[in-house]
Amino acid sequence: MLNIWQNEKKYLPLHVFMEYNMLNIVIFGAPGTGKGTQSELLTKKYGLHHISTGEILREEIERKSPLGLLADQHISRGHLVPDELMIDMLADILDKTANTKGYIFDGFPRTIAQAQALDKLLNERDTAVVAVLSLKVEEQELIQRLLKRGRESGRSDDKLEVIENRMKVYKAQTDPLRDYYKKKGKLFNIPGSGSINDVFEEIVQEISRLSF
Ligand code: ATP
Ligand code: MG
Repeated sequence: MLNIWQNEKKYLPLHVFMEYNMLNIVIFGAPGTGKGTQSELLTKKYGLHHISTGEILREEIERKSPLGLLADQHISRGHLVPDELMIDMLADILDKTANTKGYIFDGFPRTIAQAQALDKLLNERDTAVVAVLSLKVEEQELIQRLLKRGRESGRSDDKLEVIENRMKVYKAQTDPLRDYYKKKGKLFNIPGSGSINDVFEEIVQEISRLSF
């Protein structure tokens, strides 16, 4: 059977089209699992619109905008930016990018309130989350990856004390979302500790199974 999501073809598989209108994928996982890296590869392969809330916030911080200054206070301590701000930011992006054939959500949702808001925002646009790809990597490896990234990029939140806090916040507030999506039959687990290409291959496999 033809897999119309490969080879950059622009058409949605009929059942995805009828049910969802778009291919919307959430890339999910603890800090450092490789959400950003895999999202970029996916965006290229399928021509989707990548929304990385972390990247957008870092740009706001760089520009010293009011949102950036506020976000920085939370991010540099390893806390989440308040839901209300994030949900407004996302609604705004969805309005500005309405013509895409699908989104990769990277770093959003991070709380149950955000997941509910995402469902509502997509529903208002006659679409929904099609699949949540949950990347799994051992915590020790994550800490090593983030420390290395901190040394190379100087990201203010990739320092040991902050990383430890981000892991706690992830477990308390974000990990419960796996259950939220599992109950909806939308959760797919992807082993995330292999090479970038191995992980990507797993993801592509998972998406091609969705497409039939
Ligand atoms: P990865 O390394 O897997 O790409 P990450 O967890 O290291 O992910 P980002 O997704 O870039 O990093 O997010 C960085 C920080 O930005 C978070 O720790 C949080 O403070 C803030 N942030 C990003 N997205 C959200 C969100 N949806 N809700 C609240 N805060 C957010
Ligand atoms: Mg990221």
